[in-house]
Amino acid sequence: VKRNGKNGFQFYSSQFDEHVMEKIELEGALRKAVERNELLVHYQPQISIQNEQVIGVEALLRWIHPEKGLIPPGTFIPIAEETGMIGEIGAWVLREACRQMQQWQSRYGWNVPVSVNLSTQQFHQENLVGSIKGILEETGLKPEYLEIEITESMMMDAIRSSQILRELTELGIRISMDDFGTGYSSLSYLKMFPIQKLKIDRSFIKDITRNEDDRAIVATIIAMAHNLKMDVIAEGVETKEQLDFLMNNGCDDIQGYYFSKPLSSSDVESKYLTIMDE
Ligand code: C2E
Ligand code: CA
Ligand code: CA
Ligand code: CA
Repeated sequence: VKRNGKNGFQFYSSQFDEHVMEKIELEGALRKAVERNELLVHYQPQISIQNEQVIGVEALLRWIHPEKGLIPPGTFIPIAEETGMIGEIGAWVLREACRQMQQWQSRYGWNVPVSVNLSTQQFHQENLVGSIKGILEETGLKPEYLEIEITESMMMDAIRSSQILRELTELGIRISMDDFGTGYSSLSYLKMFPIQKLKIDRSFIKDITRNEDDRAIVATIIAMAHNLKMDVIAEGVETKEQLDFLMNNGCDDIQGYYFSKPLSSSDVESKYLTIMDE
């Protein structure tokens, strides 16, 4: 028993060390990732259900590690948050996304907005509004072509949050509530905060054709959003059946593999922009 216990502990301990090592390694590599140009932004189209046009794109961060290959944002963004690197990385994503959209507008006349995710820390950083304003000026992108995605959990400090959102809105930037329905905050913030769009989380869409509760929740979110004069977009739409349900319930837009995965800049260009080039 004793030996089992010890082995159990050693097993746990080495697993733990490995995990810590992995994290420290990633942290060091992440510090150099920006200067080594290992970060890039992919763009996932958002589609109007009514006319099947691309009405926007979401900027999604990618890290191509020289040895490990593609590291998903779910792995390294938490590390960037913990270590404070998210400030620099978040600003880089904003600048890159705004630069790219401005270039697509001027070269191809492609006038769609880009949505950029903010992390919790970034949202609460000093002078967020000033730094976004600076990036818009630097890249020449008009504020109405930038949308900021926030989550319910960032809104804990309601007074401060609504102040930040108001300042962003006054600049002409749009706000959308990401992962809607997965957070803990009360619905009253929808009334308090200037939010133009709800993004229904993928977890509600996933089983929508099989699960009656999910269908009820999604139909209710769509109706509520419209009653509050907000647009609503469904995330993670993968099938025709999901799309049909959303269409029948009046959802405005969709984003998901059914239409397109997130694409590299050059894939966006070859898929949507090259015909207009000549
Ligand atoms: P999110 O903001 O909810 O982004 C949507 C995620 O769902 C993306 O994963 C996207 O690739 C994925 N997705 C889209 N359509 C489908 C679908 O039909 N099926 C499935 N299974 N997945 C779909 P990704 O790119 O791995 O990003 C994961 C999360 O990392 C994002 O979730 C967001 O929270 C975070 N993230 C990504 N880029 C950034 C960034 O620049 N800044 C910050 N702070 N967070 C970011
Ligand atoms: Ca998002
Ligand atoms: Ca989301
Ligand atoms: Ca999510």
